Amino acid sequence: MDIKALIREVPDFPKPGISFKDITTLLGNAEGLQYAIATLADHCADLAPDYVAGMESRGFIFGTALACKMGVGFVPIRKLGKLPAAVHTIEYDLEYGTDKLEIHQDAYPAGSKVLMVDDLIATGGTAGAAAKLIQQAGGTLVGCAFVIELKDLNGRQHLPNVPVIALVQY
Ligand code: 5GP
Repeated sequence: MDIKALIREVPDFPKPGISFKDITTLLGNAEGLQYAIATLADHCADLAPDYVAGMESRGFIFGTALACKMGVGFVPIRKLGKLPAAVHTIEYDLEYGTDKLEIHQDAYPAGSKVLMVDDLIATGGTAGAAAKLIQQAGGTLVGCAFVIELKDLNGRQHLPNVPVIALVQY
């Protein structure tokens, strides 16, 4: 199936010059959505994760579906101040300024194998920070899965040496 054909490119969003990869059109296509999740699950099967962790907010959508498909639990990695219990926090650089991500300290038992999932990797800032957070919470990061990779930005350089899976590349 041609997943790229189901991803809409929106010019000049969120600002002039950016061609935003809109995954809502993929989500709205029943066959495309099932195919995307099934293909991610196939590619990640050998990693045998105990948990899937996904980043707010589009990582929640693909991450939860993937966790269900793989028969494991889902762990949300959220923006600052959203998680109610004790958290680990990490700060990371944006183009302008910084942002913070958090994970519950008791999200999984120490040594759990965790697969990280997001819709898209661009510069890799978000994924690099989330990978550190997963490890800070005692997890063993076994891989990183994305629907989309913007290859020229070389976001993979911010990830530890684990398998990186992307369904489509631009
Ligand atoms: P990075 O930190 O790798 O530069 O940016 C990746 C993060 O920004 C991801 O959490 C992703 O959801 C979001 N993002 C950046 N650009 C796009 C885009 O064109 N489309 C979508 N769907 N998300 C994007």
